[in-house]
Amino acid sequence: MIRLGIIGATGSIGVQAMGILNSNRGRFQLKFATAHTRRAELESLTVNHGSHGVPELFVTSEVGSQPVLDAIHLENIDILLVASEGVSGLEYTYAAAKAGVPVALANKESLVLGGHILMPIFAEMGGGSQMFGGVSGGGVSGDAFSTMFGSANTQPQAVRPSVIPVDSEHSAIFQSLMGQDMSSVAKIVLTASGGPFRKFTPSMMAGITREMALFHPNWSMGQKITVDSSTMMNKGLELIEARYLFDMPSDKIDVVVHGESIVHSYVVFKDGATMAQMGIPSMLAPIAFALGYPHRLETGLPTFDMLKYPTLSFEAPDTVRFPALGLAQEALKVDKPCVYIGLNAANDTAVAGLLNDTIGYNDIARVVAHILDSEFLYKTDTSTMDGVQSLVDEVQHKSTQYMKKLR
Ligand code: NDP
Ligand code: MG
Repeated sequence: MIRLGIIGATGSIGVQAMGILNSNRGRFQLKFATAHTRRAELESLTVNHGSHGVPELFVTSEVGSQPVLDAIHLENIDILLVASEGVSGLEYTYAAAKAGVPVALANKESLVLGGHILMPIFAEMGGGSQMFGGVSGGGVSGDAFSTMFGSANTQPQAVRPSVIPVDSEHSAIFQSLMGQDMSSVAKIVLTASGGPFRKFTPSMMAGITREMALFHPNWSMGQKITVDSSTMMNKGLELIEARYLFDMPSDKIDVVVHGESIVHSYVVFKDGATMAQMGIPSMLAPIAFALGYPHRLETGLPTFDMLKYPTLSFEAPDTVRFPALGLAQEALKVDKPCVYIGLNAANDTAVAGLLNDTIGYNDIARVVAHILDSEFLYKTDTSTMDGVQSLVDEVQHKSTQYMKKLR
């Protein structure tokens, strides 16, 4: 029986996770679940949800986050699924790391903002025999591999890793690395659907509206990540997520646009061998993998049939039409927490600005570029959680000021 807590149970990932519980009755005990505002949805989701017992429910806009942080420490859970939106995920991921609770991480922003603090704690949690090892040097080390999969280097550990990705690309990389020698990795390649504007000309890009950005051809997701997918900032954040999770230097992490979203990402090894993980585009599989590891669970997905996909296409990303991705790639080269924090917090603020009609679509990358060009970014100590939070606050403030000038 896996004892589980879910942060953001009413969201796109949270609802699908509840579906996994239903498809695997008797396997999970949901100890607690949270929503931010949607109390009724949370209550109806957790009725007859296929798990033992009655979960505690928290609506964070009513009670704040402290009762949830207490539950993470006290409820004796085996795994915490962090699937809340944007910046909000960081404090829950941090609380779990501090409490020694393994995390199934959907909220990539947690790592982009705090990977430099979180990953060493996660590594320590396993006492050197857990998942991803040190992040300090940015190099691929044999140690990182052995802490990820155990010392035998041939089989996944039966022990749950301290952090396991839910993001489909990172789940694909994780799966492609199983049984491999980390020092043989030539590069990891994240695939990107390219979003709804993949085939737009530059002049069409100029006319993109909020409504157009909220439609995604392959994935049904929350609003923030849907906009991020359309600007390709989502892929940019994922590059940084991969850098921390897999302890990879920037020149060993690439992006390839793959419109069909069948190859979820792949790893190229030094002998030329390439391991890809494939499947129909559905988050059910990576969610189930993260919750059930090292076992594979029922997802209800149809058996994958390659004949249904006789042609798959791959192309290089275009950072002229998608400047947000270019900004993230530049940030990755600099490889400093303050730059990652600036990129993420400016993007969060700008996307919120698009969603509430304060700025236009093409302003998002302008806001991020403005922040990355600002000197204050490099002057804050980000080595503590308080330092991270204060830089997030400052970036949000400066982004909001700048957004006023754009209108
Ligand atoms: P949604 O917007 O669908 O859901 C967000 C969830 O978080 C809801 O339960 C919401 O509660 C809750 N929430 C919102 N704001 C806060 C807050 N301030 N504090 C605490 N909880 C909050 O998002 P998604 O499920 O799409 O995405 C969740 C995370 O997973 C994101 O970080 C995203 O990048 C990542 N992810 C998502 C994928 C997807 O396919 N959706 C794929 C890969 C990663 P309420 O419903 O009450 O508002
Ligand atoms: Mg993804």
